[in-house]
Amino acid sequence: MAIEATKRANMRRASLRSIVSLLIGSKEPPMASQAAMGFFTDTSICIGCKACEIACKQWNQLPASEPLWTGSSYDNTGQLSATTWRHVQFIERIERPDIPLLQPVPALMSGSQSTALPFFNSDRWLMQSDVCKHCANAPCLEACPTGSIIRTEFDTVYVQQDICNGCGYCVVACPFGVIARDQYGDRKAHKCTLCYDRLKDGFEPACAKACPTDSIQFGEVEQLKAHARERLGMLHERGVKEAQLYGVDDSILDGGLNSFFLLLDQPEVYNLPQNPQRPSNNVIPASLWTIVAAAVMGLFGIFIFKK
Ligand code: SF4
Ligand code: SF4
Ligand code: SF4
Repeated sequence: MAIEATKRANMRRASLRSIVSLLIGSKEPPMASQAAMGFFTDTSICIGCKACEIACKQWNQLPASEPLWTGSSYDNTGQLSATTWRHVQFIERIERPDIPLLQPVPALMSGSQSTALPFFNSDRWLMQSDVCKHCANAPCLEACPTGSIIRTEFDTVYVQQDICNGCGYCVVACPFGVIARDQYGDRKAHKCTLCYDRLKDGFEPACAKACPTDSIQFGEVEQLKAHARERLGMLHERGVKEAQLYGVDDSILDGGLNSFFLLLDQPEVYNLPQNPQRPSNNVIPASLWTIVAAAVMGLFGIFIFKK
């Protein structure tokens, strides 16, 4: 009897919490029993080996994608998708337009002539392993109408496949273009789970485990952020002035990212928005404008029909 009463009280408290959360638009607080876990991706030591991309596909049994050759980059994956949850971007920075794109160069061993690809003219070749940012205030989670997207005890963002109805609201809400619907499969939304199944068993995510340079580091978010700041200081000391952190600061999406990056150029160069927005912040102003517009139209109608 006592257990039943406790259960009923818990249910009342839970529904009260959801009503309050619905009214004030706040997210459910993460469960406190476990420290927030995430990634620090240090792009300054990524060698573009793609071990992370393959390890993710292998562990999560995701199908291989057809290589995509754009003709302007060695990046043959293109983008994150419903079946590619890690994407190693290759960003060729061609900053010496005076050098012809195709030029003869001496072959290393034979001494004969061969042709250099445009990328060898580039001053820098940036690489970055992109992934879901597991945002502290995740727009995808806020937009999901079925409650399929939840926050786990590790403070990560997880899509429950049995509840997703494939409406795609999360896809348009994500400011990073991460989550996607599987158009050729179950038509539901998919993205990185931060290897929830591995975390539950005390293992680190497959991509971090496979990375040979430790460009992907997994751990407690607060410790990783401290380490990221140290690493940034070290790079600045060594003269890499353009190095910067992305997602460490709480100002980004009103709470920061649990998967953040050290970049060697501006975020836009890596296809990351400088100032991403939460669509939910537009709800109140947009509603007020709708009310104002309706009132103006109503007054206008009264004025016309009175004549
Ligand atoms: S990056 Fe996009 S998909 Fe990932 S948690 Fe944030 S909003 Fe959701
Ligand atoms: S954490 Fe797991 S699911 Fe996410 S990118 Fe890494 S391997 Fe893939
Ligand atoms: S495994 Fe590590 S070094 Fe290799 S591409 Fe991925 S992040 Fe870069």
